[in-house]
Amino acid sequence: MRYSQYFLITTKETPAEAETVSHQLMLRAGMIRKVATGIYNYLPLGLRSIRKMEQIVREEMDRSGAIELHMPMVVPGELWRESGRWEKYGKELLRFKDRKDAEFCLGPTHEEVVTDIIRNLVRSYRQLPLNVYQIQTKFRDEIRPRFGLMRGREFIMKDAYSFDMDDTGANLAYQKMYDAYCRIFERCGLKFRAVEADSGAIGGSSSHEFMVLAESGEDAIVSCDSCHYAANVEKAELLFREVGTPQPSEELRKVATPDQRTIEEVAAFLNIPPARLVKTLVVRTDAGEVLAVLLRGDRELNEIKLCHVLNCNAVEMAPEEVVREVTGAPPGFAGPVGLKVKILADNEVRGLADFVTGANEEGFHLMGVNNGRDFSVAQWGDLRIASAGDPCPRCEGGHLEMWRGIEVGHVFKLGTKYSAALKATVLDENGESVTPIMGCYGIGIGRTVAAAIEQNHDENGIVWPMALAPFQVLVTAINPNQENIRTAAEQLYADLQAAGIEVLYDDRDERPGSKFKDADLIGIPLRITVGDRGLKNGEVELLERRGGVKTMLPVAGAASRVAEMVREALR
Ligand code: ATP
Ligand code: MG
Repeated sequence: MRYSQYFLITTKETPAEAETVSHQLMLRAGMIRKVATGIYNYLPLGLRSIRKMEQIVREEMDRSGAIELHMPMVVPGELWRESGRWEKYGKELLRFKDRKDAEFCLGPTHEEVVTDIIRNLVRSYRQLPLNVYQIQTKFRDEIRPRFGLMRGREFIMKDAYSFDMDDTGANLAYQKMYDAYCRIFERCGLKFRAVEADSGAIGGSSSHEFMVLAESGEDAIVSCDSCHYAANVEKAELLFREVGTPQPSEELRKVATPDQRTIEEVAAFLNIPPARLVKTLVVRTDAGEVLAVLLRGDRELNEIKLCHVLNCNAVEMAPEEVVREVTGAPPGFAGPVGLKVKILADNEVRGLADFVTGANEEGFHLMGVNNGRDFSVAQWGDLRIASAGDPCPRCEGGHLEMWRGIEVGHVFKLGTKYSAALKATVLDENGESVTPIMGCYGIGIGRTVAAAIEQNHDENGIVWPMALAPFQVLVTAINPNQENIRTAAEQLYADLQAAGIEVLYDDRDERPGSKFKDADLIGIPLRITVGDRGLKNGEVELLERRGGVKTMLPVAGAASRVAEMVREALR
């Protein structure tokens, strides 16, 4: 591609709307352009990287035995009513009516549609197992679309769905997808982790998220420093080691703590570490039940774990009037002693004695509080968020490290949630009707490209991994009006193309400085610069964008040498 004839317009200014590096760089490099919040044009350069990602995904899906099809973006509401998600999915689902007043939605995911295909076409166990996938535009009316392609409302996803006769088959399908995902992200050249995840509202029993490690990631993940355990913090289990309740040694006593409400304030006021306090959170479930949760003062509540323990869908901090009603005091002074609501406590509190809690009276706390003697706990559980240094739940001696990550892929064991709801059945060898077991597997195409930039950039621009680079090689003619330079550059351009390399040829009549700035910004991995000085010695300059290593190559062998480097990088 000749730059002078290409549609590539870069900008110097960092757009104010963009908070993350990948978003800024994609806008500045002319890869994408916003149309509306969370909705983007893919400009030619951006589209090339998107297509590369799609191609890697397609090849690995095909290799794993999955079969490509394409489902519509517009989905009848009727199908979503059958699964029960029309009501449950909430506002992310964009619903509308056609001219005949029939209900539709824009598909945010396609379990219903694919299950409808299978129930209508697949009759016999001989037609299974099956794993079908598509690469398609999804729509989710996200509350906070942001970071460009990272969290859009309209975005491209690869979604695959497996159907099996039994658990063994379903587990095998899951493992194949897990392995394919590892190959995909390895081929992309990304540093990633597969982490255990919460299966959330979609249902199902087991799931892994594929996380690209990046400081700007929205997800917190933990991994063990000595074994393979890794999990989303939402899910990370904590070991409960039976410690036995320690004996109380202090008397229960009330102390004045005027205006000291937060853990930090009370700890500082009483001159004790926050870990000597036990905090009492008054929470309310989606079913309206109000209860108290105890945690060590320096710990945070994991609401997802609490929901699992309580078997509810959501919990929230109780509003002030409810706190006043159950504790008799304003927020900041709640404590378990004398409390009328059910008390749940994190396992860790079992090992504490003589701690400090609120006194359920404004301006007072209790010291020397002891579980068992002064109050009782209705239910114990793993309720807190893991933190760095916690012991690994899987191995002896390992400790958890914390990372930030970007979720680029997700594999789920779904079970029969959708096949049962939509009454999809298949006859087994004995003529018995069986509900197939499903799995679903997503990869965010645009999000992965953005994540690749988050992980691969410097102060001057993008540093593409070869596999996702929009072009593999950039040939820059320092002064294309000069005969010998133009001839040599054109020849290189032709030779590289003949060798099957994707080349952007910067033939623009621009100052070298501004060409180099653009080159840094768009981040093409290998750069050949053709200039007078080199040509005098029959050489051109090769620059590797990553690391900035420069070497002089003889003009004659340059194209084949560089083509070989591209192939090596893709192996
Ligand atoms: P998140 O928690 O980030 O909202 P999710 O759990 O809703 O993601 P899935 O439903 O598992 O995501 O979708 C599969 C994949 O699609 C995700 O792993 C992610 O890569 C991508 N994806 C999901 N939502 C978006 C979005 N709003 N913009 C871009 N990609 C997305
Ligand atoms: Mg989401």
